[in-house]
Amino acid sequence: MTARLPTSLATPPRAAVLQMPARVPDGLDTDALMRLVQDNLEAARRQGASDVHFEATGLGLVVRQRIDGVLETVCELAGREIAAQAIARLKTLLGIVNGAVREGHGEIRLNGLRVPVRLSILSGRHGEDAILSIRDKPRLVPAGEALEIERLGFASTERAHLHALAAQPYGLVLVAGPSGSGRTTTLYAMLAECDGGREKTICIEASAGPAMPGILQTAVVGGRQGGMSAALRAALRHDPDRIAIDPLIDAASAELALTAAQDGRRVLAAVGGNHVLDALNRFLHFGVDATALGEALNGIVAQRLLRTVCPHCAEPVVPSAAELAALALPTEAAIGAFRRGRGCGACRTTGYLGRRAIAEILVLDEGLRTLIIERAPLATIKAEARRQGMHSLREAALQLARAGLTTLDEVARVTRQV
Ligand SMILES: [Zn+2]
Repeated sequence: MTARLPTSLATPPRAAVLQMPARVPDGLDTDALMRLVQDNLEAARRQGASDVHFEATGLGLVVRQRIDGVLETVCELAGREIAAQAIARLKTLLGIVNGAVREGHGEIRLNGLRVPVRLSILSGRHGEDAILSIRDKPRLVPAGEALEIERLGFASTERAHLHALAAQPYGLVLVAGPSGSGRTTTLYAMLAECDGGREKTICIEASAGPAMPGILQTAVVGGRQGGMSAALRAALRHDPDRIAIDPLIDAASAELALTAAQDGRRVLAAVGGNHVLDALNRFLHFGVDATALGEALNGIVAQRLLRTVCPHCAEPVVPSAAELAALALPTEAAIGAFRRGRGCGACRTTGYLGRRAIAEILVLDEGLRTLIIERAPLATIKAEARRQGMHSLREAALQLARAGLTTLDEVARVTRQV
């Protein structure tokens, strides 16, 4: 029996595939199994992965890790028992003994440190799949370093808008983006700003975020079903000056957040939405009063993370006609200092090393407030925002590609839906 699955079942591995000891067809012995799980988790953490996926395929086990937002296959093993064994081992590590439990939080020892992790189990056709999220640091800032707006890789105009929004004495700021867009990191960086220790700040989180000095962080166990709004209501009884909600997902929370902002508090909320106007539209669909929103809202930030070209193997490149066409760009758009990474040891042959944030930011002025209060069509609000100088996520991404900091491929991957 071969140790690799048919290629049709696997994405091409770009990182080094871990070498496994000899195994028996119906499973691994306990020592080898524990080593398989531990080696994969420690390698993932060393390489800065955010999640490790253990997937049962029917033929065996595939282990993939997400680094800089992209999944890479790192290990494939044949043998139907192995996936079940590996997932059982993960459950044991998190102390999950009840088969009905699908999620667990805790700390496990990786690379000699106790690291906070979250395990999520999903039943698939071939058995259970597991995702273990490694949660020991905010992604854009190295562990132990301060989380600041200046350090997240935003362009200077974007940073200026974020500083201005963070400095508003009261009102609501929404930070939008899909999962993995870095919106939580931005939310925390804005919270960290202007914290002179004289204000009471409460952060309500669906899962424990990075520890922030001077901020009361409360995790909502179980997340959904009114848990966030109940926690928000309880937090407001503590009379906070600033409050953050990550994420705001229901109408009751939207209503409370808006009232708190109108009462003179600073409210920051992570929300769904692919771009600024999508986030505004979704917020209005919670059924909130447009007048209250128009008066209380200070701004909306929509963001993404783009992988940056590896500086160790970067080389100049001229964009191809196909790359330009994929982004609906004219050939004149090929003017710029475009670069790509050839692939080297430093970037695990991917050509990318690290990420930086891009943002589309709507800062409300009187004109935009009036349009929201009047429930103007989104197209009208967008036209007014563009007139003010708001750039789109696609434009921000292209700016980075022209400066040789990312590639057009990456621009297409990240801004496909905006
Ligand atoms: Zn490289």
